[in-house]
Amino acid sequence: MAIKRPAIDLTGALGRAIAKLRLGDRVAMLPNVESKRSRALKGRIANAKAVTSVCPYCAVGCSTLAYVSDEGKLLDVEGNPDSPVSGGHLCPKGSAIFGLTVNEQRWTTAKYRAPYAAEWTDVPRDWALQRIAERFKETRDATFVRTGPDGKRLGHTLGIASLGGATFGVEENYLLQKLFKSAGVVSVENQARI
Ligand code: SF4
Repeated sequence: MAIKRPAIDLTGALGRAIAKLRLGDRVAMLPNVESKRSRALKGRIANAKAVTSVCPYCAVGCSTLAYVSDEGKLLDVEGNPDSPVSGGHLCPKGSAIFGLTVNEQRWTTAKYRAPYAAEWTDVPRDWALQRIAERFKETRDATFVRTGPDGKRLGHTLGIASLGGATFGVEENYLLQKLFKSAGVVSVENQARI
């Protein structure tokens, strides 16, 4: 049996009126209780500038939006809906980019644990770099192999390896490869493949 339509159909007008309401006003049948303060609240990124960037963690290269305040402070990082590879989504690693960048627990000083020591101590960065350079040279000098058993030229060391972080960008990885390969180090990994 055909349903008889009312003489005056208000569903279209009602739908348009509802569509104009804020989402918070049209959840459920009754008006939602919302304080003045809640209505005045704005999201952290409400007036922030969205800068297109890329997730540094792996070769998928998901695009991100980095939200920056007028003062240049990073406020948040989210997936970029225009990204052709991820459509605005980020995996758990990518979702943690903001925490990687803005994190009060992040170490900002060079740490050193002396032989047999149980604790790490803060050391000046220049001292740490000098120490790393000295150890690098000592180890290379002690392990560098010029020729193999068959007399063929090798020019490498197996005494040093480099394990980088997936947060390294293209330029950092380029410099890392240049440095280590020029010293004859063959074990160079940048973590993104692990
Ligand atoms: S780590 Fe995750 S979010 Fe980042 S590029 Fe790879 S898949 Fe995308």
